[in-house]
Amino acid sequence: MDSITSEPRPLCDLCGSKGVFAQSDIADPDGNLDGTWSFQRCANPACGIYWLDPAPPPHELWKAYVNYHTHTRKSGQRLGKAILSLAHRFIRLALTPLWIANGLKRESDYLRLMTLSGEPYGKLLDVGCGGGRFLNRMKKRGWQVEGTDFDEQATKKVSKRYDIKTHVGDLVQCALPANSFDVITMSQVIEHLYDPLATLRECLRILKPGGLLVLTTPNTLSLCAAEFGAFWRGWEAPRHLHLFSVDSLHRLTQRAGFDVTDACTYSAGSAVVYRVSRTNRQPGKLSWLDQLRLLSWSYGRELQEYRAQANTPHTGQNILIRARKLPNSTE
Ligand SMILES: [Zn+2]
Repeated sequence: MDSITSEPRPLCDLCGSKGVFAQSDIADPDGNLDGTWSFQRCANPACGIYWLDPAPPPHELWKAYVNYHTHTRKSGQRLGKAILSLAHRFIRLALTPLWIANGLKRESDYLRLMTLSGEPYGKLLDVGCGGGRFLNRMKKRGWQVEGTDFDEQATKKVSKRYDIKTHVGDLVQCALPANSFDVITMSQVIEHLYDPLATLRECLRILKPGGLLVLTTPNTLSLCAAEFGAFWRGWEAPRHLHLFSVDSLHRLTQRAGFDVTDACTYSAGSAVVYRVSRTNRQPGKLSWLDQLRLLSWSYGRELQEYRAQANTPHTGQNILIRARKLPNSTE
């Protein structure tokens, strides 16, 4: 295991208030880093965000990402993985009629395009574009696309493989021109930032008047977080530096100057979070049969969570925010 320095962060860096401990004893779910971390929830009712305490200082954070995207696979496990992956595909295929019938398929399709299926084509920026699959999907549909990412290797690959313009670094550092994008998407990115408010304000500046911001992030008030406590994968310590409930992210987006048109949660895709959260709680080698059981259990939980939102709204796995830059904005 590697070690990483962490410093105390006693106060909310977005409003300066004290917090209450929302969750302690969170270990690195990938098992690469020594130590445990906690999340505090800001006690100021006008804020209410969650922050990692203690947290790695910026110059140490790279250590948390060294093994983040690597998938080491022992050669002897390849056949087993391939068979399991095939079984997984069959399970998903078999579940499709059920997903269509209950609405999860529609939700999944809506999120796959980051809610943009009904929007007029224009200039789209994906902040934290990773491997660029989403951007390529949107490019094929007629959007003019660009991406940003901290990871220079990732941006180079995206440019080379898909012929898409990319920018390296923090969005503020990228210094893109004002009023230049119709849509900005940020999928599972805001939770990784030291200063989410500065990034939201930068989004506002570079969006055209009337432009749309779509963002998704894990929901601290999700049923899965409540069930798994410190083992919930959404905490993702120490890579997640801020986390949110629907209300706290809604307020922060408004504070950045946006007109928030949708603030809700969704469950599509939550099966994988149930699966890894359960594996975090009960580590150990699973037989094929146990892995198949785990797969079908996780899809059952996804459906359960989706249905539960009719009675307990805002408890889905992830938060979705859609917000507009006002047409007469002077930003
Ligand atoms: Zn606060």
